[in-house]
Amino acid sequence: MSETKCVYQEAKFYNRLTIVQSWKWLTIHCTESPEEHERGKKVSRWFSNPWDNKKKQWRKVSAHFVVDDTAVIQCVPETRIAYHARGLNTRSLGIELVGKAAQSRADWLDPFGLKMLDLAATLVAVLSAKYKIQLDDETLASGILMGNGGVTTHKEVTRAYRVPGGHLDPGPNFPMGVLLGLAREKALSL
Ligand SMILES: [Zn+2]
Repeated sequence: MSETKCVYQEAKFYNRLTIVQSWKWLTIHCTESPEEHERGKKVSRWFSNPWDNKKKQWRKVSAHFVVDDTAVIQCVPETRIAYHARGLNTRSLGIELVGKAAQSRADWLDPFGLKMLDLAATLVAVLSAKYKIQLDDETLASGILMGNGGVTTHKEVTRAYRVPGGHLDPGPNFPMGVLLGLAREKALSL
């Protein structure tokens, strides 16, 4: 992504062999970490060294981008497959937003959240223009299975592919309408 200021912190685990030129989906996640100033740095550092100290094993997870209140951090090259949403990894770019799936709508739309959504919307607008991904509304599980492409969530990927133990982020109160509305506005002025 060249159009938005973006820091790079490379994740340890992603598919380095397969080159992907085109994506059909953007999958939105949340990091399950608190809304803390510049918390994305910590998340991206974790992706670069995802050791699970309790289980004493690596967690083979990553995402292309992590967004917080001040920055978009890229962790996986845009032409490579990240490990963020089983079922859709080979066809979607993963975007992690700092926050917890249990947050209320008001939490997502607090000053931290609004700054983050604004940065995320620019990212979504740029990527959707580049890969011709529609921004009309969130793609639900049924839409994923129809294969049309769009912006979706980890939860809908989990539902679509009935992934056992799959994640349900970014949670029921995530304001996807706000994110997509902002992204549509930004897409007009790219
Ligand atoms: Zn997720």
